Amino acid sequence: MPNAFSYACRDCEGMEACPASVVAETEDEVWRLMELHAQIAHQEDPAQWDKETREYLATLIKPVTV
Ligand SMILES: [Zn+2]
Repeated sequence: MPNAFSYACRDCEGMEACPASVVAETEDEVWRLMELHAQIAHQEDPAQWDKETREYLATLIKPVTV
């Protein structure tokens, strides 16, 4: 049974060279870590992510068993 969620930045279009990935117990925590990573590594402002961007990113969050 999956008991965690993961996000690998390289799965995101245009981010193939990024080695970062996050794993956390809840999707909410994964979102927080994704946002922090985007700010630190990609100088992005997650507050500017529109609905389509968030819907796309949501498809990249996968249930995993750790
Ligand atoms: Zn990245």
